[in-house]
Amino acid sequence: MKKGKRPAHQNVFAFKHNKNSKLTKKIAEEPVDVLCVRCIAKMVWRKKFRKYKQRTVPGRCNLCQQKEIIKAYRTICDKCANDKGVCAKCTKNPICSDPEEIMRIEKNTREATNDANGDSSGEEEKVEENKKE
Ligand SMILES: [Zn+2]
Ligand SMILES: [Zn+2]
Repeated sequence: MKKGKRPAHQNVFAFKHNKNSKLTKKIAEEPVDVLCVRCIAKMVWRKKFRKYKQRTVPGRCNLCQQKEIIKAYRTICDKCANDKGVCAKCTKNPICSDPEEIMRIEKNTREATNDANGDSSGEEEKVEENKKE
């Protein structure tokens, strides 16, 4: 068989990446810590309704002026927030670090979506792992 010329153009771009679900997963993993109850509720809401935007570049802390903020929506860094004991977003209210309280907020937000989950058709999303042989 003769190897002929390859077609000059092989413009078969199959963009099939599941960018959205990956992003959603990443966002779901974003911590909602060092925040007050009100800001936690806002964050949880943003996550649920995909309004959550991750930070792409570190932000500067309003208190120590260091570019230490890696979490979205924070206006001061975790260190300053912990030092002062105030929410890293609004910097006014005390930090809520009670896991039960956070869980309750998340639960309430879920109920508000009116989303009957539990309708997974038996198959769970599986992450493919690289097999080494
Ligand atoms: Zn700071
Ligand atoms: Zn707050």
